Amino acid sequence: MNEPIPGNVLFESLRDKDAIILASNARITAGVAEGIFRAANDLDSAVIFEIARSECNVNGGYTGMVPSEYAEAIMGAAEEIGFDVWALHADHITLKKGTPEDIAETGKLIDAQIDAGFTSFAIDASYLFDHQGGNLREELAQNIDVTTELAKHIESQMRGKPFGLEVEVGEIGKKDAHGQVVTTPEEAVTFVKALNENDVFPQVLAIANGASHGNVYDEHGNMIEQVSIDILQTKAVARALRENHLDVRIAQHGITGTPRELIRSVFPRGDIIKGNVATFWQNLVLDLYKVYQPELYGDIHDWTLEEYRPKNPGMADNEVFGKNVKYAIRQFRERINDVDEETVDAIEALSYGEALVFLKAFGSKGTASIVRKTL
Ligand SMILES: [Zn+2]
Repeated sequence: MNEPIPGNVLFESLRDKDAIILASNARITAGVAEGIFRAANDLDSAVIFEIARSECNVNGGYTGMVPSEYAEAIMGAAEEIGFDVWALHADHITLKKGTPEDIAETGKLIDAQIDAGFTSFAIDASYLFDHQGGNLREELAQNIDVTTELAKHIESQMRGKPFGLEVEVGEIGKKDAHGQVVTTPEEAVTFVKALNENDVFPQVLAIANGASHGNVYDEHGNMIEQVSIDILQTKAVARALRENHLDVRIAQHGITGTPRELIRSVFPRGDIIKGNVATFWQNLVLDLYKVYQPELYGDIHDWTLEEYRPKNPGMADNEVFGKNVKYAIRQFRERINDVDEETVDAIEALSYGEALVFLKAFGSKGTASIVRKTL
């Protein structure tokens, strides 16, 4: 098996290398993972594969996969392609309550992820924000405490093995009366400093900077490009982290829909060192099903609308589908896993080409060799 390497090795060796690491969520795995690995191999680019708690957990989540199933699928793809410089990242280990039960449950998930071979972890306690707090530190206190407790849990369960650590401040995609809520430089610095004081040293920080997860739609329900990422604010946060000598850079979430020429020309590589691409790969597979698996596509389409139209009154079908089709993956898992070789080959070919474009836009070429030298 081509096993993943510790996430911190990727983050630390590429911290100031003018590159963004492509972190892909292959929630429909077959073909996508092979295509991305093949592109990574051809362009000598370090890559990350990830999956979030909501979609893959001890109960299956909305993909129906437990952590070991996802891990085995990705490791199998790495083995097939023969690619070595990659990490397996547990994305959005999200806690919404932060109660002792919530933390204990989360600990069990982390144990399962470690057993499965994950080498990097994103603790997301960004919901735990105290709006009544007097100052920033007080507002962030629960996020700091919960993140610390779980980071220590990972550390003890890894038994001395190094691992990647991502933490999150500012809820991604959150909106208030003034629009998108963005993380301030002070907030980021206060958060990371407090963690460092607790002997917790993350390598990457997820911030709210105007991006949203998933597909983006206009008021008529037509899918549109995402150009809302606040580049200046992102640079300001990275600068503040550097000026405070904090060895943390930014993980950009929610890249799906962002034009690649925009990524190439304005994304601050080196400030952003991890770029998450998830829904994009799901869209690619579903688009291809329209031609290769029309019956399966039709059934997925109808099921999603039947389930989610009533929950979204007034929303255009197109948007109801695009935002909720991820929940169909578990429902149709067997049929998705059973699609013929011709379909999987086409998914792989498309994923390969699209991954090349992402890796080019991210400036990733040559990063695998840089990481290899440090191993
Ligand atoms: Zn995310």
